[in-house]
Amino acid sequence: MFRKLRIAILLIILVTVAVGAWRAGAQATDWKHSVHTTIYPIMADDSPVTRQIVERLHPDDFAPIGEWLQEEVRRYGRPLLRPVAINLAPPVNALPPPLPEGGGRLSVALWSLQLRYWAWRHDAAPGPRPEIRLFVLYHDPARTPALDHSLGLEKGLIGVVKVFASRDERQRNAVVIAHELLHTLGATDKYDPQTLLPVFPDGYAEPNRQPRHPQALAEIMAGRIPVAEGRADEADSLADTLIGPQTAIEIGLQPRGH
Ligand SMILES: [Zn+2]
Repeated sequence: MFRKLRIAILLIILVTVAVGAWRAGAQATDWKHSVHTTIYPIMADDSPVTRQIVERLHPDDFAPIGEWLQEEVRRYGRPLLRPVAINLAPPVNALPPPLPEGGGRLSVALWSLQLRYWAWRHDAAPGPRPEIRLFVLYHDPARTPALDHSLGLEKGLIGVVKVFASRDERQRNAVVIAHELLHTLGATDKYDPQTLLPVFPDGYAEPNRQPRHPQALAEIMAGRIPVAEGRADEADSLADTLIGPQTAIEIGLQPRGH
């Protein structure tokens, strides 16, 4: 009896969350008003380097992401001032539930529920509730030389982003944050998960360029610049990236069938 009741309650929560996420997703991408995004910095380790970087974060550090988006959105004929308004929350002193291994649909769905619950408990940022919440985990590069994947819930308006706690990595971090931000608005990855190479044509910034290689820019959801057949370099900054036509369709910047 109690078990059935518990399952029923869980199902109600699941449906509520799903409907809420769907409605929020539909509203956040009309590109007619600013989408309010809050960045919640988190120390992923107890390194003094990480602490120093996180404690000294300033909203201006994230301004280039908003400026880049404004430029890209304008390029698609939407002259909207500040399409994404980014706020910085005080550091969160807790770690989000660990990302699911493998990434099966069910495990991601369960993780997303845990994450939403966790986010609701740890959202102490002042001001109105943001539409998009990005939890950014800072790692000391000396302790974590390679970061595993970040996860922005597709159309879920919430993401967990892993970055390096280093001034030198700031521009590259901005690329990762912008990539996950666009996931939360419905953009899909455009690289091969095995080889990490951009998928042609959608993962190419300029698919019609002749000759095809080397490309000069990266499509943001591919993250890498295809420099030769079978070779791609990571984008060093947002200046090396753009929003390609397929991503523009996915985030509602461009009508489908264009
Ligand atoms: Zn991605």
